[in-house]
Amino acid sequence: MRTLYVFTNDLRLDDNPALQVAAESAASLMCLYCYDPSLNRAGQFDVARMSPKRDAFLGGALLDLSNRLQALGNRLIVLNHGLLEGVATILGRYDIDQVIYSQPFGVYERRQWGSLADRYKMLTFREIPTFTLFQHSALPFEALPTSFSKFRRDIEKLTVPVPIAPPEALPKVIQCSFETALPAISNTNKLAFQGGETAAQRRLHDYFSTVHPSTYKETRNALEGSYNSTRLSAWLSNGNLSARRVHHHVSDYESVNGANDSTYWIQFELYWREFFQWYAREHKDKLFRFGGLNNRAPLTSFYPQRFKQWCQGQTPWPLVNASMLELNETGYLSNRARQIVASCLVNELSCDWRAGAAYFEAHLLDYDVASNWGNWQYIAGVGADPRGGRHFNIDKQTAQFDPKGDYVRRWVGDKGSVMKIDSVDAADWPIQ
Ligand code: FAD
Repeated sequence: MRTLYVFTNDLRLDDNPALQVAAESAASLMCLYCYDPSLNRAGQFDVARMSPKRDAFLGGALLDLSNRLQALGNRLIVLNHGLLEGVATILGRYDIDQVIYSQPFGVYERRQWGSLADRYKMLTFREIPTFTLFQHSALPFEALPTSFSKFRRDIEKLTVPVPIAPPEALPKVIQCSFETALPAISNTNKLAFQGGETAAQRRLHDYFSTVHPSTYKETRNALEGSYNSTRLSAWLSNGNLSARRVHHHVSDYESVNGANDSTYWIQFELYWREFFQWYAREHKDKLFRFGGLNNRAPLTSFYPQRFKQWCQGQTPWPLVNASMLELNETGYLSNRARQIVASCLVNELSCDWRAGAAYFEAHLLDYDVASNWGNWQYIAGVGADPRGGRHFNIDKQTAQFDPKGDYVRRWVGDKGSVMKIDSVDAADWPIQ
């Protein structure tokens, strides 16, 4: 079979069941990635969907993948088109029998693949799970449990499938006249992480060769410190690393160092990730709806000036400002800081949660449609959480997580912040 393999958020060779199917079933193979330049343009809430930093992280991942494919005698074609246009460009010019890709979880990505399969009915489209711990058919329930706790109790009983090794060889390459147009990978000096499977593997081995996994539960809420949590999210989101590989690494670590609450908690967090994937799949475009799952609109609105101050780290709260400056500069933020700034936008600034989610989408190197929009829904109280939204008391959080002010000092300097909100009116004129 002449096969087109379309990489999406599965930018790796290791434990990639979709690539394995391609390696086993294809007589010849073309590997494609569609890089959508429209993501760099400002969209809703005047926010682009992809910041230059996220671009750079992705660029690093594509370069690494390209090198790995070359080592196996194949190559990566990168087209500067969205998925629909990019795949159609290849299918219009080359004689292809089957298209293989990873199962998407976001509703728009699923629709795009649906419309490609409709349009090219004469071809075989094979969608293969690569992103989650489990396949849909392995889940022990018909409908997704309404709470995370119930979901976790059910899936904890399952055995996570053993990860598969990278292919030793790939089918011969389908010659193609397109060049590989990698996105700009300059501007990487301040990135929290370097993109690509090589860097992902390095971090995975590094983290689990220390004793830090044994204290993860006590340290995971810290605002900074590169060993206080795994820091694997960005590679997991781009698919440079599989969740199954991380899960098994935890088990391997436990067999040498012993299991405890902390090692269990790393897997617990991977179940959150898993939950949000199936949540996104189940709730489709309700994931992006202002009123969330039950269509109950929060009592918030869109205040452009407040939102701008939040984005730029110019609010009255130094801890929020420090966090936003860290996000803007590095593309990463600890889970605790994400919760605090999200709560601030919704509860202190009364802003539409979707503006914050859109901003995170652009700036987080680990942006993942399900985890991002799902977590924001939780904070805003429009998700599946029976407890309603989350309101973090910023003063208490500051006293607990930055008692000496080190974190704030690192990002905003000694002066902290004196910014007020609503110092301009709706037309952006200063209020006298
Ligand atoms: P660790 O604490 O080491 O956890 C291990 C892994 O478990 C993570 O790498 C991640 O894959 C997963 N995980 C941990 N916490 C969560 C969680 N709450 N939800 C889903 N998965 C989790 N995570 C993303 O990967 N992408 C996002 O776009 C994203 N957006 C978020 C937005 C908000 C408002 C909030 C509150 C959280 C968001 N998270 C997101 C979840 C979490 O903050 C990050 O996964 C975590 O901080 C990444 O750091 P780490 O790899 O060291 O995580």
